[in-house]
Amino acid sequence: MNRDNWKNKIDFTAHEAAFFEKNSTQGGLQVSITPYYASLLKNDPQCPIRRQCVPTDHEFIYTEDELADPLGEQKHSPFSRLIHRYPDRGVILVTDRCAVYCRHCFRKRFTATGRGVISNRELKEIAGYLKDHDEIFEVLLTGGDPLTLSNSRIKEILEVIKEARPDIVIRIGTRIPVVDPAKISETLVSILQTYGPVWILTQFNHPVEITPESARGLRILINGGIPVLNQAVLLQGVNDSVDILAELSHTLVFNRVKPYYLFQGDLIRGTSHLRVPIDKGMELVRELRKRLSGLAMPQYAVDLPDGGGKVPLTESYIIEETKSYYFFKNREGDTYKYPRD
Ligand SMILES: *Cc1c(COP(=O)(O)O)cnc(C)c1O
Repeated sequence: MNRDNWKNKIDFTAHEAAFFEKNSTQGGLQVSITPYYASLLKNDPQCPIRRQCVPTDHEFIYTEDELADPLGEQKHSPFSRLIHRYPDRGVILVTDRCAVYCRHCFRKRFTATGRGVISNRELKEIAGYLKDHDEIFEVLLTGGDPLTLSNSRIKEILEVIKEARPDIVIRIGTRIPVVDPAKISETLVSILQTYGPVWILTQFNHPVEITPESARGLRILINGGIPVLNQAVLLQGVNDSVDILAELSHTLVFNRVKPYYLFQGDLIRGTSHLRVPIDKGMELVRELRKRLSGLAMPQYAVDLPDGGGKVPLTESYIIEETKSYYFFKNREGDTYKYPRD
């Protein structure tokens, strides 16, 4: 199927049409939707798939608080493709390409900018850095989407990293299980097994994304011994509802995927139409906690602007502390005390 065939599936809204008009002169923003993900698109402006991948001219609206690099990642980059923000974890941006460009992408400063795949020279430099920094216990491969690369390039990258640091744990951040699950094969899994331990962090944002095809991709990974966790993003008009978030978590757990984070939207330029106010997010999470088991409950978190880092957005259950006791309220709102020593 032609890469642009999805355009015939839907009647553009005025805001979608305006995006394409403006983008040719003042934007240069990339749009890409896989044929598989497009097959989930509905000709309904409220379609949760559509809001994540079909752009609107709201992307040209910048609010006062929005930034190009909201996480201040460039401040923490010893090399252009390495971010070392937390002592024991490093992030490698292995490619700027994705199979689908999410309209809510938090790394637009890097993704789809034509920087391409990491070179052998860049990889060597980073491997040297990992060797010198044995406090790094986990390396996160992301970008862009590392699983858009060929299996042979994925293998080469893992090989260089593990040769430098056989003791390192690898995490791969990828939406391939969501947007191109047919790419997940036994061959890929055997590569991941060879250079493991590998953990996969994916991003399902709505239960309709968990199709028989994506469930199959997850099954191949998990049966192959690759744990899969989900990092959802709270998105206006996509999943800002308790029912949808609860169903998303249940469907993930049913497919053996642990809901790990639910992220508050980062302050990326041109994404205000997709962000949910923090107060609403807190309310959703309070309700969700009443309904979901610990296994199904993701951690709501925000990545603070200016490189402040990730912090959990949790309501405290401690309502008072005295010299001898902590006073708690439980989920029903009743008060209990527990001794401090
Ligand atoms: C999110 C993130 C990590 C990983 O954080 P966890 O809380 O361990 O998932 C590591 N480095 C950077 C720069 C990050 O943004």
